[in-house]
Amino acid sequence: MINELKHICEINENFDLKNYNTLKLDSKCKCIVFPSNEDELIQVLKLLKNEKHFVMGNASNIVLPRFYDGYIIKLSKFKEFNNENDIVYAQSGVMINKLATTISNMGYSGLDPFTGIPGTIGGCIYGNAGCFGSSMSEVLIDARVYDGKDIITLKNEDFKFNYRYSMLKENKNFVILSSRFKVEKGNVDVIKQLILERTNKRVSTQDLKNPSNGSMFRNPENASAGKLIDDLGLKGYSVGGAMVSNIHANFIVNKSNATQEDIIELVKYIKSKVKEKYNIDLVLEQEIIK
Ligand SMILES: Cc1cc2nc3c(=O)[nH]c(=O)nc-3n(C[C@H](O)[C@H](O)[C@H](O)COP(=O)(O)OP(=O)(O)OC[C@H]3O[C@@H](n4cnc5c(N)ncnc54)[C@H](O)[C@@H]3O)c2cc1C
Repeated sequence: MINELKHICEINENFDLKNYNTLKLDSKCKCIVFPSNEDELIQVLKLLKNEKHFVMGNASNIVLPRFYDGYIIKLSKFKEFNNENDIVYAQSGVMINKLATTISNMGYSGLDPFTGIPGTIGGCIYGNAGCFGSSMSEVLIDARVYDGKDIITLKNEDFKFNYRYSMLKENKNFVILSSRFKVEKGNVDVIKQLILERTNKRVSTQDLKNPSNGSMFRNPENASAGKLIDDLGLKGYSVGGAMVSNIHANFIVNKSNATQEDIIELVKYIKSKVKEKYNIDLVLEQEIIK
């Protein structure tokens, strides 16, 4: 398998992922694969069809194990984007922050709410990422997706978007290749000012100093997961190297050499306390990779 992959594109065996996940967990994988175009990606996906694998974005919403005994496909070479007036095209490995900042600086609004999210276009569509009252579902026109057999175009409504949800979560073999977004011409100074205000809000309310994946739990209906956890006095509570952030109670941070096991134990503890006090079942926003 490794030899066949080597003939298609760049690969690395026993690859160290510590600097490839925002939680900075010590993690390695059997093999990481870097296709540089759609053709290579599809060859790789066909080859790995019956092997353990997944497509990784910026790993800012997944919790990696110490060792992933499979193949990780990294789309960091899928980084082209452009716009034709109010239609923006982006390959799935583009960082949303870079895309949103560039397009906003050109005087277009629509992508500006996403400037602080450290994820790729692929990961953001997968989880319908959002903030400040906007989410991917509001700006996505359509995306080109490999469905395991063919390249198809999925329209916005085909993704069945909901709060931090797209149907890709139930179709793990679908891989986003590229997508198109609708933006609107606006006033560049107003857009920049909005971005500045939102950045200040992030800096003052979120824990951006310690490695994390952002929010650990989804907000339950009519409640804030962070407030529920905070009201239980759990800020600063830790298991091994994983700790509930002192700044934002829905952030679990890597205080020192945390492992996936530490995070799972801490998640269990928080869930049990929230259930005991409020009879609410918190649901993970992040994905634990086994
Ligand atoms: C400091 C901080 C702040 C954050 N703020 C926010 C926020 O405001 N709002 C928010 O929603 N999130 C936020 N996040 C979480 C995270 O950045 C988002 O969920 C982001 O969308 C994840 O993208 P990613 O590229 O890192 O995906 P990854 O974590 O790499 O992957 C997530 C899932 O997407 C799948 N995936 C990735 N690429 C593709 C593809 N091309 N095709 C199909 N599936 C794919 C993966 O297989 C995986 O299942 C924050 C995280 C941090 C660390």
